[in-house]
Amino acid sequence: MSERVEEVDVAIVGGGPAGLAAAAELRRLGVARVAILEREAQAGGIPRHCGHYPFGMREFHRLLRGPDYAARLVRRAEAAGVVIRTGTTVTALGPGGRLTISDDRGLATIRARAVLLATGVRETSRAARMIGGEKPGGILPTGALQGLVYLNQQKPFERPVIIGSELVAFSALLTCRHAGIRPVAMIEEGDRATARWPVPLLARLFGIPFLARTRLETIRGTRRVEGVEIAGAAGQRSLQTDGVIVTGQFRPEASLLREAGLAVDPATGGPEVDGWGRLSDPAYFAAGNLLRGVETAGWSWAEGRRAAHAIAASLRGDLRAGDRPRPIALDHAALKFAMPQVLPMAPAEGRGLAPSLQIRLATPARGRLCLWQGDRLIAYRRLNHRPEQRILMRLPTIEPNAPPPRLTIE
Ligand SMILES: Cc1cc2nc3c(=O)[nH]c(=O)nc-3n(C[C@H](O)[C@H](O)[C@H](O)COP(=O)(O)OP(=O)(O)OC[C@H]3O[C@@H](n4cnc5c(N)ncnc54)[C@H](O)[C@@H]3O)c2cc1C
Repeated sequence: MSERVEEVDVAIVGGGPAGLAAAAELRRLGVARVAILEREAQAGGIPRHCGHYPFGMREFHRLLRGPDYAARLVRRAEAAGVVIRTGTTVTALGPGGRLTISDDRGLATIRARAVLLATGVRETSRAARMIGGEKPGGILPTGALQGLVYLNQQKPFERPVIIGSELVAFSALLTCRHAGIRPVAMIEEGDRATARWPVPLLARLFGIPFLARTRLETIRGTRRVEGVEIAGAAGQRSLQTDGVIVTGQFRPEASLLREAGLAVDPATGGPEVDGWGRLSDPAYFAAGNLLRGVETAGWSWAEGRRAAHAIAASLRGDLRAGDRPRPIALDHAALKFAMPQVLPMAPAEGRGLAPSLQIRLATPARGRLCLWQGDRLIAYRRLNHRPEQRILMRLPTIEPNAPPPRLTIE
């Protein structure tokens, strides 16, 4: 047990857009002691490493590069009276908002009346993606590439291939362009790019071949990448390349939750939350990418602000406590996740985290998305979507004593 014990009203774990937005808003709402605990030497989260546009439209009504956007969020939080403690890693979550932290003075305990978890996502390793071949140098996930390019001013390769076509893959493309790196191609297993329009136009704009229905089979090279074998509709072929950028396998940074025994949703990989963004221990809330994987910074920022309102209501004693209804059951193979998982029992309860239900697909699907509780259809919408597309649905209320809600596609 650590000997240092400190007290705050709200502790925020993670100083990215979601945590910074929540902190500033909590201060604006009159909460006295708000502290951000950030393990890096600087707050700002992922945008600090993304030296490209576009960030900031929703928050500042202008287009900013990632680091400028992050710096503005930090300044705004500090001006609001938020204490930002960098170099501070939260190592354990205890019941009722008791955190163990590690900083340059060693271990300490922070007791908070409420905790917001905003730890974002982490990228899975190449091994986890089971790409075949040797393991030569020159294979990078997007985050590492951005660290090298924007923070260390390095150019790790000249002609890499980019695997994947979601938002982050195009961020990799912009990063390459910034460093004077010219990718040989972007490859995508699906029949078109997964990022939402107009992002995929970037590849065409920069003259980078976009190869749909194409799979990476093997990476060649012993010390450095020398080429890749790809397989597409026209069969197998080689591409000469000196690097591979792997993108798109981001999972919520949820290790603390699991160790603490908080309910984790296997579908999102993040916490199981109710309409307030509240976890199975009601002292804990969550916002941003931790909830479900990568969304835009502006979206995460808005979730942080909404979480602040829910937390302020909780500190005032205005949130319903008591039994938690059972989470939504996903009842179709094309459904990847639905969040919040625990639906509200009264309309006001939904306003905290989510004005609507966020849904994503694992495979393209069309039809009618239907949410049932027993034999009662409580919400539905038309569906003609692909994976990675943001699908929103009105957040319905549920009956307390009826079966758990069931989401399906008909
Ligand atoms: C490669 C990439 C490129 C992107 N490009 C764009 C773009 O161009 N435009 C756009 O709008 N969005 C972009 N995004 C999305 C955007 O960056 C994220 O949506 C946004 O940063 C999410 O904010 P967050 O606060 O949830 O998490 P993050 O920004 O990830 O912040 C989480 C913070 O928590 C800290 N942390 C984690 N665990 C602990 C712990 N145990 N103790 C203390 N601190 C901890 C981390 O150090 C980090 O600072 C991109 C995302 C990626 C991955």
